[in-house]
Amino acid sequence: MDPRVKSARNAENSSTDKLRSVRDDVVQCIQCDLHKTRTNVVVGSGNHNADIMFVGEAPGEEEDKQAVPFVGAAGKVLDKMLASIGLKRDDVYICNTVKCRPPQNVDPTDEQKSECSSYLTRQIEAVQPKVIACLGNHATKSIMELFGCVDKIAPISKIHGQVFMPDPLFIANSLGMGEQAMAEVKIIPIYHPAAMLHNPPIAEHLRRDFKKLEEAIK
Ligand code: URA
Repeated sequence: MDPRVKSARNAENSSTDKLRSVRDDVVQCIQCDLHKTRTNVVVGSGNHNADIMFVGEAPGEEEDKQAVPFVGAAGKVLDKMLASIGLKRDDVYICNTVKCRPPQNVDPTDEQKSECSSYLTRQIEAVQPKVIACLGNHATKSIMELFGCVDKIAPISKIHGQVFMPDPLFIANSLGMGEQAMAEVKIIPIYHPAAMLHNPPIAEHLRRDFKKLEEAIK
C-alpha cells in the first residue's frame, strides 16, 4: 500500500478510536445534574480528521432527541453558512461545550461546562483541527480558557472573526495538549448561528467570518 494512504488511514483510525472512547465515557457520564433530564447525550458529529471543528454551546430540544448537534433551527443556519464556503457538515466536525441538554435551554453553568471540559479537550486532541470555530460567547470562553487565552476573552460582538493562537507557555505546560498540531491551532470566535435568528443583520457578519474560516485552512 502507498505509505501516504497507509499513514492517512492510520490517522483516521486513531482519531476514530479516540472519539469512540470519548463517546463511551460521555454515555455513562453522571458528573453533573444534566444527566438526569437528558434523552440522549450529544457528543459530536462529522469528519474525524476535519480541518475545522465547530464548538457550540449545548444541545437543544431537537439535538437531545436526535443525539446529533445542530440539527434544529440554528443547525439550518450553520448548514447554509457552510454551503456559502463550499463545505458540508461531513467536511467538518461539530460538537458542543456541554454534551447534555440544559432543561428549557437555559445557559449551561460554569460547573456544568467545567465537568464536561475534559471531553471537549479529548475531542480536540482526537480531531486535531487546524481551526476551532467557537460559536458564540460560551464556546469562546471555554475554548479560550482551555488554550490559556483567558486575557483575550471579550464579548463576541468585539472579537468575532479575529484569529487567536494558543498561549505557548500554557501549551508547553499543559498535559495532553502539548502536541505541535495543537500549538498551532487557530481559534476563531464567530457569532452563534442562533443569533442570526433573533437578529437577521448578523447574517452578514457570519458570512464574512465563514470566509475567514475558509482562509484560515488554506
Ligand atoms: N445550539 C448549540 O449551541 N448547540 C447545538 O447543538 C444546537 C443549538
